[in-house]
Amino acid sequence: MERIFDLAIIGGGVNGCGIARDAAGRGNSVFLCEMNDLASGTSSWSTKLVHGGLRYLEYYEFRLVREALIEREILWQIAPHIIRPLRFVLPHHAGLRPAWLLRLGLFLYDHIGGRNLLPPTRSVDLTTDAVGRPLAPGRYKRAFEYSDCFVDDARLVVLTARDAADRGADIRTRTRAVEIRQVDGIWHVTVENTVSKQRSEIRARVLVNAGGPWVEEVLASGAGVNARAKVRLVQGSHIVVRRLYEHDRAYMFQNADGRIVFVIPYQDDFTLIGTTDRDYHGDPANVKATQEEIKYLCDSVSEYLAKPVKPEDVVWDYAGVRPLYDDGASEAKAATRDYVFELDTPGGAPLLSIYGGKITTYRRLAEEALERLEPYLGGNAKARQGWTGKSPLPGGNMDVSALPVLTAELQRNYPFLSVEHASRLAHAYGTRAAKVLGNAKSPADLGQSFGATLTAAEVSYLMTWEWAMSAADVVWRRSKLGLRLSAAEIETIDEWIVTKAPHESPLLQAGGRT
Ligand SMILES: Cc1cc2nc3c(=O)[nH]c(=O)nc-3n(C[C@H](O)[C@H](O)[C@H](O)COP(=O)(O)OP(=O)(O)OC[C@H]3O[C@@H](n4cnc5c(N)ncnc54)[C@H](O)[C@@H]3O)c2cc1C
Repeated sequence: MERIFDLAIIGGGVNGCGIARDAAGRGNSVFLCEMNDLASGTSSWSTKLVHGGLRYLEYYEFRLVREALIEREILWQIAPHIIRPLRFVLPHHAGLRPAWLLRLGLFLYDHIGGRNLLPPTRSVDLTTDAVGRPLAPGRYKRAFEYSDCFVDDARLVVLTARDAADRGADIRTRTRAVEIRQVDGIWHVTVENTVSKQRSEIRARVLVNAGGPWVEEVLASGAGVNARAKVRLVQGSHIVVRRLYEHDRAYMFQNADGRIVFVIPYQDDFTLIGTTDRDYHGDPANVKATQEEIKYLCDSVSEYLAKPVKPEDVVWDYAGVRPLYDDGASEAKAATRDYVFELDTPGGAPLLSIYGGKITTYRRLAEEALERLEPYLGGNAKARQGWTGKSPLPGGNMDVSALPVLTAELQRNYPFLSVEHASRLAHAYGTRAAKVLGNAKSPADLGQSFGATLTAAEVSYLMTWEWAMSAADVVWRRSKLGLRLSAAEIETIDEWIVTKAPHESPLLQAGGRT
């Protein structure tokens, strides 16, 4: 008789993987299926901020802001390699929000919870401080500078999944849940390998629908539950341009339409600009940044900057769909960013569907999900409550300020690495970087070089330990090397994966490649 899992989770975004990690760590048997790659949905298309969300204070979302502010430092401490503190400069714009309102908002932001390590807000004289230099000369005199954090969102998902798997979770990528039904109080989920088209059935006592923008589609696949809380799909797009300025701080610019736009130093040589908010009605898989959105973002930041940003400066753009809970707000920008659970028990067995949420609050969301499911999971749900905030993610077992030390150590142990290479590996893999490099004594020992410091050794590691199955998985989700590699170089990685990669990898055999 095949096993019955305690918990089956549909969706390998940040929320599904967060729940898998927490549940596995509490001793539950966990199955998770993701129809594409981990983080291929909304979780890799975010602004990548681990933030309280200053602007949500305007919508009186105090609970959400407080919870998110507390999460900032918790997440930073469990994943200091992929999360870093970031200072944001918010220039005062005479025609928009008054200075007293900004000061009040930032006072609350500094004091309503969780800020122990991050520095507080300060006032900035833009006429003398270096952060004033990239701005339009003479136009902005004062600003406030406050703290938040920046995260590699897709790596957060993958490392969370890795930790879940290390604790026994069965994580299957390229595996779509196609049919859900209940027999005698047990969930039967038919899953299809999207590469081989092979189908199989798994069984579980509890089912979690973490399908993100597809949450209602998952319900429609036979769960016997009608979507009560409707999802509101809100598109957000970003652009990436060559580095706009030298200093290391980000900007939060206010727009005349009441929205805000972030300008963030990105991947050393680039600047990330985003985002937009517009209702979206198509297939979430097809969302793309429109020319109108790209122009909107360029115009918004050009209003503030000395040197305007033009659509032709854009080297990369991306778009994602926020699967928000539909609270009836009239404008997309005002729809709540908080998460909402729907717990149904059709036929006796529980199904928890997740609406909304943020990267920042994924760990708390997982804790709350397990609290809600405790009556169905028995003793295991309560055991080890709250453990996820104290236990580092893979590679994160170090002090928050230890990255330079780790980089130096990698260079000492692998003297042939350039500083850039060592630093990139330290930021991506933390204390697990040595696992990527193994016993290498020279560049040749790392195998074929694909450009931008990516080697066969690293791709093999990603295929064996991080579910990578294609070049896109490697250069857009496990890293952002796609910004530095040509289309031909990326094609070479795909060819290498097909012809030379270690095919004995059990992950490859489980899913194949797309
Ligand atoms: C533009 C934008 C900017 C954002 N910025 C931030 C930010 O700066 N900070 C922040 O904290 N949050 C931010 N967010 C919010 C955050 O990105 C999302 O709330 C979060 O990623 C949602 O994660 P999820 O796991 O619910 O959904 P997803 O990441 O979409 O995961 C759902 C997964 O389910 C899979 N799936 C669906 N159906 C099936 C099926 N039948 N079988 C198997 N798998 C299935 C999908 O392939 C997908 O990978 C932003 C969002 C957007 C769109």
